Amino acid sequence: MKYALVTGASRGIGRAIALRLAQDGMPVVINYRNNHEAAQAVKKEIEDAGGTAELLPFDAANPSAIDAAIDQWEENHPDDHVAVLVNNAGIRRDNVMFMMGDDEWHQVLDTTLNGFFYLTRRLLKHMMPRRRGGRIVNIASLSGVKGMPGQTNYSAAKAALIGATKALAQEVAGRQVTVNAVAPGFIETDMTRDLPQDELKRLVPMGRFGKPDEVAALVAFLASDQASYITGEVININGGLYT
Ligand code: NAP
Repeated sequence: MKYALVTGASRGIGRAIALRLAQDGMPVVINYRNNHEAAQAVKKEIEDAGGTAELLPFDAANPSAIDAAIDQWEENHPDDHVAVLVNNAGIRRDNVMFMMGDDEWHQVLDTTLNGFFYLTRRLLKHMMPRRRGGRIVNIASLSGVKGMPGQTNYSAAKAALIGATKALAQEVAGRQVTVNAVAPGFIETDMTRDLPQDELKRLVPMGRFGKPDEVAALVAFLASDQASYITGEVININGGLYT
């Protein structure tokens, strides 16, 4: 059976993507780092709606944790493979660069960029053989497209993720694997809860933050058979904030 694996699927955008892919008929693997209760609630919501889901916690910033988790998953699923990978796990550690600590720089790069590298390299083994095909969707950010002050770490990680998306897309296109990035603007999640929302909304031509479901609909399309000829793209989803 073909599975979808969504990193950081216990909350926010990842949660919405997991729910949407399950609704579209895919069995979903829910990754998260700490928040077991929230991840368990996502699994229950999927199952209550008639879908299939399982939990696979690991720290996306830790290569040995990734390997151990995927080894275990493969052992439990000898006849299955991950056909859709959504690299969504991400964190913010905002600071102006002259005050930024090494840890703030490395934690963000390790989660977004190194996490993408280690997990995607590992799961390409599921997608490449016998031209089995696959879909990889990387959750970037407007911050990686235009740069945001106070986010040199986050902008660097997301811009690098976009570069890797474009390069990998060309490497694996012949194996029917597509690789695309989605770049959201301001979306209503825990990650944006501490931001001055009323002030920021005025900057958005649509006058509001986006909803996780709106991002999930785009990801679901890119993960579907309908998107078979789209690869190496970065699709902005930001209410007209920057195009
Ligand atoms: P969020 O509400 O803070 O949720 C983050 C999710 O990522 C949680 O499920 C968390 O798991 C998981 N996570 C964090 N670090 C992890 C790690 N090392 N290993 C595994 N899982 C980890 O964030 P969000 O707003 O939904 O953001 C999701 C993605 O969209 C991120 O890549 C973010 O950069 C990007 N994005 C967000 C916005 C926005 O406005 N919200 C805009 C542009 C891009 P736990 O629950 O276990 O902590």
